[in-house]
Amino acid sequence: MPIPVSQMWTVATYVLKQKLKGRKQYPLVLMLEPLYRCNLACAGCGKIQYPGHILKQDLTPEQCFQAVEETGVPAVSIPGGEPLMHPKIDEIVNGLIARKKYIYLCTNALLLKEKLHLFTPSKYLSFSVHMDGDRDHHDFSVCKEGGYDIALDAIRAAVAKGFRVTTNTTVFDGVDSKSIRKFFSEMMDAGVEGMMISPGYSYDKAPDQQHFTSRERNQTLFRKLLSNRDPKWQFNMSMLFLEFLMGKRNLECTPWGMPAYSIFGWQRPCYLQQDGYADTYQELLDSTDWSKYGYESGNAKCTNCMLHSGYEATAVHYTFSIPGILATIKSMLMPAYKDEEALRMIEQEKPVSPLVQIDLTSLSKSTTLQGQSTTGKALTEGVEQAFDYRGDVTIKLKSGNTIEGYVYDRQGSPNSGKARLRIMLKNEGRKLTVEQSEIEELSFTGRDMADGRSFEAWVKKYAEKKAAGETNIELVPEQLD
Ligand code: SF4
Repeated sequence: MPIPVSQMWTVATYVLKQKLKGRKQYPLVLMLEPLYRCNLACAGCGKIQYPGHILKQDLTPEQCFQAVEETGVPAVSIPGGEPLMHPKIDEIVNGLIARKKYIYLCTNALLLKEKLHLFTPSKYLSFSVHMDGDRDHHDFSVCKEGGYDIALDAIRAAVAKGFRVTTNTTVFDGVDSKSIRKFFSEMMDAGVEGMMISPGYSYDKAPDQQHFTSRERNQTLFRKLLSNRDPKWQFNMSMLFLEFLMGKRNLECTPWGMPAYSIFGWQRPCYLQQDGYADTYQELLDSTDWSKYGYESGNAKCTNCMLHSGYEATAVHYTFSIPGILATIKSMLMPAYKDEEALRMIEQEKPVSPLVQIDLTSLSKSTTLQGQSTTGKALTEGVEQAFDYRGDVTIKLKSGNTIEGYVYDRQGSPNSGKARLRIMLKNEGRKLTVEQSEIEELSFTGRDMADGRSFEAWVKKYAEKKAAGETNIELVPEQLD
């Protein structure tokens, strides 16, 4: 059983209540990001490229509880960053358990074994361990040799202590279907309760831009991975969402179903894209033009997205409808998803190139903005660039004052004369709203932390070490200096 009956019952009654109330938009799972800091710097992650003063900030337990209570969700996923690096993660988890919330604590497990004593096994708590495939694939994906073995050891230790443990796997273009299918069996043998799997989201701030793939290729890949299932595999995801990944079902994105909350506030429109922030969940619902997002919208940032943060809540909502119930019954009666064509496709797969053969030109993300300034009419474009820039800016105000920090939001239309930006002040950890009309000059003074330079250097060094038969090289996050 991939999900305990009590959890299924809680989610089912919650969804039915929302339907009875006639709510068209409601949250199902809160993506609570209590920090952006991490002890890894994974190739496909676009979440951690921030200046040091941002990475050093944490949500307080009270802020976490407030966000959970504001939404009333039955389940909370805690990604990051690495949540086990939060100094009060035990307080946050215990507070959520006391509120009877089902928690998925997403971790790369590097610290899990040493921090297990902070937690008590509970039906409400599951460690969702990041495992991106077999040893070679995972270690390359997380840019750390030995990462797979540490995580597997932690999984076994947590299972032995009676904790619920699941895995969380992102697959990128170029994976070998046979090895991922073998990996599923290895995880089940290690004692995990269920597995989550998703395609990578093409974060434009991620260092490796080469291994994200199109919707069509994802559907083919997931058809190969999820057809002809071994009976022992358990996935703790909605069956209809898995059918969506396999290309058997069409769903539309409902990003309000899995809202993301972090030190910046409620992320618009979803966990993946950053198009600004709202201060409350209700404000997020009311002030977001949702027609701009989702596959049907034509938004280029949504075209290839098939992630649970957009589509799983849709699948769960649909499950509690007559056709959804019938589809679920069918999937329960025929869980193997027999598919001869998928088997043939796996057999015909060409040997995969090692991921290390990355085209280094595809990594170049260096911007030329650092050191530049904008003023006068160019300010409108400068504010937009500053919003996209993962480094600090310095703003000279017409009043003569100067402020420095990270621009995390911009609001209002410049034509209305009411454009403003929101900045997290460096060294103060405080948010400030600045009217564009107050700005004399905006300068890009900090380094763009998404410039990909360290990853490029790492890939070169990794290739050399591999060729020399040496190991033990890892990409260390450098933003905390
Ligand atoms: S399609 Fe994906 S990226 Fe676009 S809004 Fe939905 S979840 Fe976000």
